[in-house]
Amino acid sequence: MLHQNLGLPRRLALVSPPLPGEALLSWLNAMAVEYGGLTRGRTAQITGVLADGEPVNALRTGRAPYYPHPAMVHRMRAVAALSEQQVADMTWHRFRGTALHPIGPEWAAETTRASVLGRWADPDVLRLCPACVDESGGRWLLTWQLPWVFACPAHRCYLIDSCPDCGRRFTVHGTDPVRGRCRNRPPTDGTRRRRCGAPLHGLPRVPVVDAELFELQQRLWDALHSPAAQCGAAFGVFQDLWAMACLALYTATPEHLVGADLVVREAFAAFCHTHDHRADRDLTAASRRSGRRLKAVDRRSPPVLVMAAVIRTAARIVFAVNPLTAADALADLSRNPHSPAIYVLRQAWNSGPLALATRDTTERIKSVMDILDYSGPGFVPPLSQRDRYYSALSTGGRAPGRR
Ligand SMILES: [Zn+2]
Ligand SMILES: [Zn+2]
Repeated sequence: MLHQNLGLPRRLALVSPPLPGEALLSWLNAMAVEYGGLTRGRTAQITGVLADGEPVNALRTGRAPYYPHPAMVHRMRAVAALSEQQVADMTWHRFRGTALHPIGPEWAAETTRASVLGRWADPDVLRLCPACVDESGGRWLLTWQLPWVFACPAHRCYLIDSCPDCGRRFTVHGTDPVRGRCRNRPPTDGTRRRRCGAPLHGLPRVPVVDAELFELQQRLWDALHSPAAQCGAAFGVFQDLWAMACLALYTATPEHLVGADLVVREAFAAFCHTHDHRADRDLTAASRRSGRRLKAVDRRSPPVLVMAAVIRTAARIVFAVNPLTAADALADLSRNPHSPAIYVLRQAWNSGPLALATRDTTERIKSVMDILDYSGPGFVPPLSQRDRYYSALSTGGRAPGRR
């Protein structure tokens, strides 16, 4: 009777269980192939991910990939014999308390697309470990989609976020590594519209030689998989790293990457070259004041190797004995808190997707955040008031000019 009321599809005879840590969309890709090449949307309907009659577009816009809603869990248990834990592990909800905000009384218990985007994770981007993809037949881990993962701890190689052939970024909706061909449409002269077609198996493996970065990746990987009791500490680490990675995104240069692997230095140099003003250009005073220019899309999901560069730089501040000294080495913060670079960082922080960045940082980087707050746009305290301003901050008072 219950079965009929919920409109459940029939129980499936053939279900390949999700791999540990696999993303829901990856599992659907694998199931689609198992069922003779169905579309992913249709596969979502027959596996109970979507309710009967729910439009297939709900995989893009709906809540299925984010939160194990009881009705979805019930359907998937009935149809695909998956446990509640297996379903929950495939959704973004599993990062609540580590990369995503912990569940608290004043926060919605449901994890949504907005709550993922608000923590600097872009649920549309796809990064792949070439070795894991080859071994698993094109399936991917949800953890790879987080900004905090840029290398595979098992294979010690960098993740790949774009097709080596056409150069376009992989996306969870446009790339299907299980079927194994890049389906992007390369930029053309406008007359050719064929798809790229490059194989997604045997992607180039670039080893991580940089010991500092690899150790950091392992540390972050462990934090992401922390037992529930240690989640609070992990969340603080990610928030601090987030704030300092933003600082690095706006102020670091390739010279700050001494010891990093060449691919990381080259990727970051290219990023700076694209977004910085050229030294050889004749700049007006106004444009010289504008600092590094990043569009919302650049801030939302920088390329994976750029993320490796800025998180490596951020970690040197966050885990330093004296974070302010380390931040000074990067941006000369104490002496020049009103530099154009800091000014544009503050502007970016006050708009999406970085607007949450300063809210949940910990005491560890307070000395740095106080100065970054102080240099916010719209509030520049006169010299005579700086002492008062700093003492208000140090006693926990609300800084004038802060949101
Ligand atoms: Zn791997
Ligand atoms: Zn391609």
